[in-house]
Parts: sequence; C-alpha cells; structure tokens
Amino acid sequence: MSSGGSPAESDTWKELLRGLVRLELKRGCNDDAAVGGFARLALATVEGSCTRTQPAAERGVSNELRSLLVDYQFLSNRARADRCSALLALLDNSTLPTARSPLHVSAPPACAVPVPKPLPDNMKALLQVLEEPVSTLWGVGPRVREIMGKLGVASIADLLQHAPKGYLDLRYPTELSRESLGQMVLIKARLLAVTEIRRKVLLVKATARDPGGRVLHLVWFNNRFVRSRLQAGHDYDFYGRLENSFEGAQLMQPAFEESGTPPAQLHLNRIVPLYHLTSGVTQKGLRAHVWRAVGRIPSAAAEYLPQDVASHFKLPDLAWSYRSLHFPTDEHEAEKARSRFAFDSLFLFELRVLMRRHAEQDVPGTPFDLPTGTVERYVGVLPFVATASQTAAMRDIEGDVRRPRQMHRLLHGDVGSGKTAVAGYAAYAAKVAGYQSAVLSPTEILAEQTGRVLQEMLAPLGVRVATLTGGMTKSQRRSILSAVATGEIDCLVGTHAILEEGVAFERLGLSVVDEQHRFGVAQRVALGTKGKEPHSLVMSATPIPRTLALTIYGDLDISELLEKPPGRFPIQTHLLAATKRDSAYAMVREEIAHGRQAFIVVPAIDPASDEGDGTASVEETMRELTEGSLKGLRIASLHGRMKSREKGSTMDAFRSRNLDVLVATTVVEVGVDVPNASVMVIEDAERFGLATLHQLRGRVGRGSSVSHCILIQGNVTADGTERLQVLVDSDDGFQIAEEDLKLRGPGDILGTVQHGYDVPLFGSTALLSYRDLSALPEIRKAASELLERDPALGAPEHADLARMLSLRYPASKPGMEDN
Ligand code: ADP
Ligand code: MG
Repeated sequence: MSSGGSPAESDTWKELLRGLVRLELKRGCNDDAAVGGFARLALATVEGSCTRTQPAAERGVSNELRSLLVDYQFLSNRARADRCSALLALLDNSTLPTARSPLHVSAPPACAVPVPKPLPDNMKALLQVLEEPVSTLWGVGPRVREIMGKLGVASIADLLQHAPKGYLDLRYPTELSRESLGQMVLIKARLLAVTEIRRKVLLVKATARDPGGRVLHLVWFNNRFVRSRLQAGHDYDFYGRLENSFEGAQLMQPAFEESGTPPAQLHLNRIVPLYHLTSGVTQKGLRAHVWRAVGRIPSAAAEYLPQDVASHFKLPDLAWSYRSLHFPTDEHEAEKARSRFAFDSLFLFELRVLMRRHAEQDVPGTPFDLPTGTVERYVGVLPFVATASQTAAMRDIEGDVRRPRQMHRLLHGDVGSGKTAVAGYAAYAAKVAGYQSAVLSPTEILAEQTGRVLQEMLAPLGVRVATLTGGMTKSQRRSILSAVATGEIDCLVGTHAILEEGVAFERLGLSVVDEQHRFGVAQRVALGTKGKEPHSLVMSATPIPRTLALTIYGDLDISELLEKPPGRFPIQTHLLAATKRDSAYAMVREEIAHGRQAFIVVPAIDPASDEGDGTASVEETMRELTEGSLKGLRIASLHGRMKSREKGSTMDAFRSRNLDVLVATTVVEVGVDVPNASVMVIEDAERFGLATLHQLRGRVGRGSSVSHCILIQGNVTADGTERLQVLVDSDDGFQIAEEDLKLRGPGDILGTVQHGYDVPLFGSTALLSYRDLSALPEIRKAASELLERDPALGAPEHADLARMLSLRYPASKPGMEDN
C-alpha cells in the first residue's frame, strides 16, 4: 500500500472505534463492550492505524487516542465515561485520512516480545514519542508537570528514563495464615458483601472469601471512591497488612484491583515498579503516568544505535526495554532492560565527552616562550624535595604551555599529595613567559592559605603574589585591582571574587582552579574570558578510581600525583560508639598536653539546624566540651555562618597556636593545612559521605608525628559500621572511593564529580550499578571508533543516534553544571 490509505479505509477503523465506544457507553463502561475487554480491542484498533507512512498530524491523534485508552481498565466507571466522551470528541474532530483497516491488527500493544528486525522508520516513530513533552500525556496538567520537573522529567524520554529504584513482586498471593499476621500480604478473594456506614467518618466494610474458603474482613476510612469500585460476586486482589480483629483476619485500608491477567492490572498481581518520588506525587500516581507513557511506545522493534554496536554489546530491543524496565514480567527482564539503559547512559556520555574533546583540542592558545630548565629552577627553591609525580606533572604542564594551543589539564591527586606546589610551577612558568596567572579557590580560608603558600614559594623567584578575598576593605581591594590591571601583580589568588567584573588583568595567560568540583562550568568559563585563551589547569582531590577518572574526565589531559610526600606518619583511624566518647576526648587532652592541636568536626551549626534529631552541633558541642571533657583548654568555633573576617582571624589564631581546639563544621574539609594539628574527632561520623570523611581526615597527619582520627558513630547500624570501617582499614583515597562505589552504587560519588562538570552522566542514579562500570573502557572504545568514522555524527545512518544524543544532552539546556 502507498501513503496514508484512502479516506474510506480511514473511516473504516475510526467508524469501528466509534461504534465500540458507543457500545461501551451504553453498557455502563464496564470495559466489556468487546471480547477480552473494550480497552484492549480499542487500543489494538488504534495501533493498527499507525503506519510508517502516516502523516505526522494523524500520528498525534493516534497518540492521543492511545493515551486515553492505556489505563482505561484501571479507572472507575465514572472516569471511564469521561474518557469515552473524550474519545468520541477526538474521533469526530480528526478527519484527516489515515491508514489501514483494523482487520490487519494482530499484536496487542503492550508487552510484545523483542522483534529481531528494527527498522529505521520504527525508530523515527519511537523518537517522535520520546521527544514529546510529558504534558501530552493524559492527566499531566500544569501542576503534575511542575512536580515532574522536580524529578528532572520534562519529556516522555525523561519519564521513561526515570528508572525504578526497585520493584515489588506482587505476582503471588499469600496464604491466609497465622504466620502472615503483621505482614503485607496479597490475597485473592471473592467479594461477598460490602456496606457503607456514614458516621463522623465514612466507613466502608466488606467481607470476602479466599479460594480456600477463609473469610477476610476489609475496612476503609474516608474513601469516597471505594464503594463504587467494589461489587459483590467479583474477584479482587487485596494488598495490605494482615491483622487480627475480633471478627477474624482483617486488612485495614488495603489497596485493591479487580483480578485479571497481569497486563490488565497495574498495581497488583504483577511486578510493580517503585520510583524515587518527590512531594506531590505518589507511587501509584507516578506508576500510572509511566504506564501511559509506556503505552505510547509503538510495539515494533526499534534501535538507534549502529547495528554493530547493538549486536556487539548484545543489547535487547529498545522499545521492549522501555516496557520491561518499568513493567517486567520477571526479574530477568527487569535486569536486562536496566543494564541496556545503563549501557545507553554510558555510551551517550562517552560520545558527548569525546565530541567535546575533539572540539576543544584545536582551540588556539598563547605559546609560552620558556627557556630550558624552568622546572629545575623552580624545584630548586622549594623547601622540600619534589616527589617524582610532582616533577612529572610540572613537565606535563611545561610541555602543554609551550604549544600554541590551550592547555586543558587536570591535576588529580589525593588530599595532601602536594598539588599546591605544582600549581606554583604553573604560575612561575607564566611569569617567566611574561604573563599573569589567576588561582581560584573554593573558600576564603583556602584562598588565604594558598595565597600565603604561593607567596612563600614564589617570592624568591621574583613572582609577585596577591590575594583577593571578599572580606577586604574597599581601599585594600582597589589597590590590589589596580596593581593587577597594570601588571604589577603576577599571580592573583582568590575566591570567585576574582571573577567579578571589576577585576581586569593586564595579560592573563594561565588560570588554575583548585578543587574544581566546587565550581560550576560557568565560573571556569568566566575565568577563561579574563585573558586571551589562557591555559587552564584544574585540580581535584575527588577520590574516584583511576580507571574511572580517565573516562569521566575524558576531555581533559590528566596528570596524577600518585604518591604522598615522604616523611609522613600514617594517620591512625579509630571507630568508636558514642558511649565511648570520653576516651576520644582523653586522647585529645593528651595530644594537647604534648603541644599539639585538635579539630573537632560536627555535622550542624546550631541545634535548630540539626533537623531536631539530636545531631551534634557546633554550639552544643562547644558548650559541652568547654564545661566538660576539655575544660580549661583554648577552644574556638569555626563555621560557614561566621563573617569572613571572623573566620580568618580564628584560623590565624589556630595556625599560630593561640588555640588548642577548633570545633568546626565541614568548612575545614577542603585543603586547610595546619601541620601541628595531630588529632581530629568527627562526631556523628555516619552522617558524612566517605569521600568527605577522607578529605576531613586529611587535615591531620600533615606534621611529623603519628596523628589520629577518631570517628564517633552516633547512630550505630550495621551498614553504617561497615561503611566507616572502610576508612579505618584504608588511607588510600582511591581505594576508599572504590569501596564506596561498591557499597552505595556509583550515583552518589559520581554525583560529586559531575558537579562542576557539564556532562551529566545519569538519567537516574537508580540506573547504574557498580558492575556496569567495568564495561566502561570497552564502551569508550566503541564510542571512539564510531566518532573516528563520523566525528560529528552527521551521516544519515547516524541521524537517530544524533537525535537521541541531543535528547539526552540538549545543547541549550542552561545550568547543566548544577545537576
Ligand atoms: P593538596 O594536594 O591536598 O592540595 P598541599 O599542596 O596542601 O596538598 O600539600 C600538603 C602538604 O604537603 C603541605 O604542607 C606541603 O607543604 C607539603 N608538601 C608538598 N609537597 C611536598 C614534598 N614533595 N615533600 C614534602 N612535603 C610536601
Ligand atoms: Mg589543596
């Protein structure tokens, strides 16, 4: 058949559907206007009207019809009547000619098995559905759309990629028995009688009999809809907690559906998906939306990946995967679908990263004209012997900046590995070549510290360093700014204050961003515009396993600091239950008696900010300690709500040993360097992530004696203990990251990496498991081979892939770095 079919044929299927709807209305909307159910046959009819050659407008009508029908069987009779009217209205308003007669229809719309031959046109039809906004789904009005927005869902593709965080297997009924008392049970039973009692509350009571003849009592309060959905003599599935009332076995407020075959039931009698929710939407609500979205997916097999990729990685069909991810018929299907989307997520990510890398590789930059021996000269003035990786990193930088293209280098190294000294070399190289440099720090405390360290290292080499912070007076600020503008300052260190408009450089040639994950891409870009294509060095201590780092930061060149500077004593880490707190503070006293200092870290600032659950706060801990265990010692507090001048003077007092103890929030997490501090106590340690704890711990162990980190577990759980034990057993940030990945899944930890990086990795953090990551190198290879053949994905055979990629990474999506 050629295009579209004749109007007569179009009328045929529409007429049939119209007739069906009318009959259904006449029969009271019991979903019985056709054998096997009205909705089923109606859906099949609509499906049959969809062809490859169908005009777009007509396809829209089919989609709308479909979304009115997919959940029909789950509705109350009254809601069904509304749907029927909507169906009739839609049918009457759409007069465009369309396709085949319904007599050709064979396959039911949902849950078809994977068909081996995906055709390009099938994928086009699927893409069309995926690209539609969720508001085209029945029941998604402005309010629901907003709620979905909070879940990061805008398109149907987003909704379908909102992977279940788990499933509930409600396929098998439970036997009514004593053993099941107190548990959630699924019981199939025939309704015997139902009564409605209106007192102060509306009470619906019903009795039902299970197949074994046992009687079950059912009770609902204040639910106006229950009565109309229950009919004596019909079979239902009930799901609720089994209790023993004086009448016998009873379910309070159970969920229920009329018994049917699995495709006819949504919330019971199947494996049901459970999602991450946000306020305003329930599991049932979201499940119904997803169901409607799934119902939109054409049943034909479809694929957007090149055939060789799909077959090499043995990927199941895409359309099938969307259905099975949400509504699997068994566990294997669910897992197969999940891992398919995990693959997609990683493959598209790699494509995106590699494409960006290609685009950036050729950005012209200013070559630094460096005499030989700059690394040697710089290393010669350092107060210590540089480690082998520090020297190697400096050589990498030297090589980069000499070339006439921009440097994009990541310096990756665990806390305390000595990144600042390497940054110092970059600033020195800029100076030698006649350029200025800028160093961006995430916090005021850190900016001041880095400024001081660089000043000490670089002054002997004639590099003039200045620090700009938010806490300066206007005149201090003005004089620094003018010195920067005239080129009297070679290296400007500061917080994002240096990104402000008033800050102008004479000849900015290089920028360094410390702890890059704390910044957004926008900030990195802002720094880049302050000079003429300045070289860029970003530094990170985010501990992620090495192989992963290479992949995640695929668009950057990487130098790694593998070893820690020598002469360090290891940090001994102890894990204590809260009841043993006293012994922790005894150790603190002892260290202080030996002239050392201590950090005490707590999760909250004041009791009001602790969510009312008794989490340790700075205020409370200060009070307790000054009156109790640490009475008589010099204690001060440090937290993010203090003015920057206060913070600065407290840090100064601590650094110059006028304080013994600092009670702080995680403001001390990043980079603070006080070598005389030899003990750190972390209260309610289970509240922090392992990466944060490892960073915190890195604040001690910087001097030349054994240091201690005491983790106090406020709320003891087996999981929590296992997690914290990882820190006790290892001091290697990468290994800790690896363990953390295994324990928590990659979502959390990669979430930190993603921050400040504009290629978000996940449609949903529920999607990826640790195991999936092992395939990354192979996935990267496949992506890279594909791009070698077609760098911009412009070839016609990659059109679907390009569309899928832009669906995943919309080019104009603002604020991606905040994901
Ligand atoms: P991070 O990588 O966490 O930023 P820093 O640059 O703050 O680490 O360095 C941590 C400490 O190690 C500093 O006190 C620094 O002076 C010292 N340090 C750096 N490199 C060496 C080295 N090669 N030998 C000895 N100490 C070093
Ligand atoms: Mg640092």
